[in-house]
Amino acid sequence: MKKCISLILALITVLALASCTSNDSYKDSAVNKDYVKVGKDDPVYFGDLRNIVNAEDGYYFTEDGWNFLYYFDKESKKVVPVCNMPNCDHNNNSCNAYLGDIRHYSGLWYYDENIYVIGFSNGIMGLYQISKDGSSRKRCCDFLETGNEYSIIATVHRGFAYFSINRGDNKAQVYQVELKASAKPELIFEFEGINACIEFVRGYNENVYITVSYYEDETYETSTNSLYSYSIPKDTYNKIPIDDLCGHWTFIDDNTLIYRTINSVMKYDFNTEKSTEFYNEPLMPSYDGRYIYLDNDVNLFREMAQSADEYQLDKRSIKVVDLSGNLIDEIKIKTDGLCYFGDEDYLFIDLNEKISASGEGDTEIQIKNDDSIHVIGTDFITSLMAFDKSQIGTDKHDFTLLKKWDFDSIIG
Ligand SMILES: [Zn+2]
Repeated sequence: MKKCISLILALITVLALASCTSNDSYKDSAVNKDYVKVGKDDPVYFGDLRNIVNAEDGYYFTEDGWNFLYYFDKESKKVVPVCNMPNCDHNNNSCNAYLGDIRHYSGLWYYDENIYVIGFSNGIMGLYQISKDGSSRKRCCDFLETGNEYSIIATVHRGFAYFSINRGDNKAQVYQVELKASAKPELIFEFEGINACIEFVRGYNENVYITVSYYEDETYETSTNSLYSYSIPKDTYNKIPIDDLCGHWTFIDDNTLIYRTINSVMKYDFNTEKSTEFYNEPLMPSYDGRYIYLDNDVNLFREMAQSADEYQLDKRSIKVVDLSGNLIDEIKIKTDGLCYFGDEDYLFIDLNEKISASGEGDTEIQIKNDDSIHVIGTDFITSLMAFDKSQIGTDKHDFTLLKKWDFDSIIG
């Protein structure tokens, strides 16, 4: 919940209108279909909170309150609840698409023709398997009690779930658990450092990549990111020798990692073990098998913190570049919400809309979850918006609304 609310931060009005900077056609650039295997691999970037994921022909997602599970069909462009019950109004807790009874607020994947969500049962966090039509739901495997359940970072990749535990005792761990009811989590990675914390866990090919952050000394002034690679077949892990990692990274092929530093975006070559500059601004990179997407969100948050001004919505943009770093397009998104860079067909953004004036969370919402009631205050309502990537390189940059977080409909 803390994460969910921490994202509900800023205000928004309109979207889209962006500058066209190139004549390159989106269609002319081939997609590397082998980059990530849909329904098998950790999906290409759908956000750290993962409330949206791609399937073969569309996307499964929840609205920001994690009330119901929806499906957005690429061809019909329609959004439907994941419920096949006849005569269901899809607005109460007997609906198959209802997630409120297990609600965790992060973690949604599509694997082997099933949807997986993180959820609670009797206070124990674990993974639920939901069939594509919503008709069956079962507890798939248990995670471990962490004492800090809302800070979990997890992924589903090639038959396993991976999840982090940040124990708060300077030890950060990652566990692997098979997608089976009887499976027991096994420790695969442990890091010790001052305030050590797992930031990202992502699968790519036969490896799981783990970003840890920690402080260099007890002045708590300098925080460092390190990236580790865990080999699934070998059950061993190694540090990747990049010292200047600062936040996001993405693979663009089996030998090349693109990552953000404090000053730029760098490219690391696993063959030569050398890094070279890829883009001369410190933007968050993501790759969809065709283009690289570079987001300036973190820089705008930093500017806001340093200047005590508001977040500069007019400056927010996603640069679209090719594998050589040539600018193809720039999409202005005018929100401080997350961008889910997505697969080759769509990207998604959270559009935050102000609903109260004070900025102190004066709209109160009650959410019943399992056996407890959470009361939260918010000033913003978040809508999930879709951007059709066939617009890249054209003058048109329209977003369509998939779902608004309607917390009046939250069910106890
Ligand atoms: Zn229903």
